[in-house]
Amino acid sequence: MATSSGNRSQTETEGIAVETRPAAEDWVYCKGCGTPLELRSRLSKPKAQVDKMMCESCIGRHGHPLVPTPGAPTFCYRCGGPEEVFEAPGISPAIYHICPRCLPERYARYQQGDFETPPKVAPAEETT
Ligand SMILES: [Zn+2]
Ligand SMILES: [Zn+2]
Repeated sequence: MATSSGNRSQTETEGIAVETRPAAEDWVYCKGCGTPLELRSRLSKPKAQVDKMMCESCIGRHGHPLVPTPGAPTFCYRCGGPEEVFEAPGISPAIYHICPRCLPERYARYQQGDFETPPKVAPAEETT
């Protein structure tokens, strides 16, 4: 357990994502709050590694660099829009976060309770 020091409650003017940015598609967005995270071009390089998908404050809040804590709202990594949460029933219930804007087909399918296509299981993270 790490002691979290530096709990200054500074009121930051939060940059609310408005559609006025040039080339919004050139960015990826924080999964936790939807603010622009970094330029997508960096990630398209052959050896680019995505080791975080959230901004610093969200990483601190959720205690994880990639996904917000279960139950927390998530935002689309690709467009920054809020994602819908679906719970798939079954032997091993799964939770999906779907961006209606980026995945309209899957969104529609999940809305009808159709979770047939098995999701690709992400390989376990390798800790070095
Ligand atoms: Zn964030
Ligand atoms: Zn999206």
